[in-house]
Amino acid sequence: MAMKYLSVFFVLTIMLVTVSCDSLDNFDTDPDPLITAEIADSQDYNLVTPIYGMQVSIDNGVNRGTQDILDILDRRAEQFLDCQFVEGSELGFEDFMLNNGTIVPPLSDLRVYVVPKRYRCDVPGTSVCNGTYFGGVDIVTVAETDFPGCDVFLPWKHELGHRYGMDANHTNQSDFQSCIGDASCDIDNIFD
Ligand SMILES: [Zn+2]
Repeated sequence: MAMKYLSVFFVLTIMLVTVSCDSLDNFDTDPDPLITAEIADSQDYNLVTPIYGMQVSIDNGVNRGTQDILDILDRRAEQFLDCQFVEGSELGFEDFMLNNGTIVPPLSDLRVYVVPKRYRCDVPGTSVCNGTYFGGVDIVTVAETDFPGCDVFLPWKHELGHRYGMDANHTNQSDFQSCIGDASCDIDNIFD
């Protein structure tokens, strides 16, 4: 019986399509073309982060060096998990069950599509994104875009937050804010 329920959870997790998006509608330069879950899914994820083994694809036009990017993704994932959960950064190596029963697979299952700047996106409520979590395919898209006073890849922890239980509509964002934010940067001006 227990196995039966577990498999139901698993199927539900696979089917769940969580799309989140962080709006940058107010910036004045043109965004890059549309990125959908299908487009993200079709990239070649031929890079692997050294700690968690996340699968990474880096698009043309991204300035930062590859090793630097992979290290940043790992380091901030550790920071986020250590901050957000009592189990800490080790849970990134395991299946982890959220309070609602959703099972989040290890970070080695996650694919990360790194793009140079904000892009058009097709999600409710906004048309331009600098980060997206496509839950159905378990892919984070994150833009390199530098904001004055902010870390590069600013949306990364925010999108990880979505993978680990933050609602797509941000109703429970306050439960995550202290672990996904950047203290040196007022992200209220950047995220929707
Ligand atoms: Zn969000």
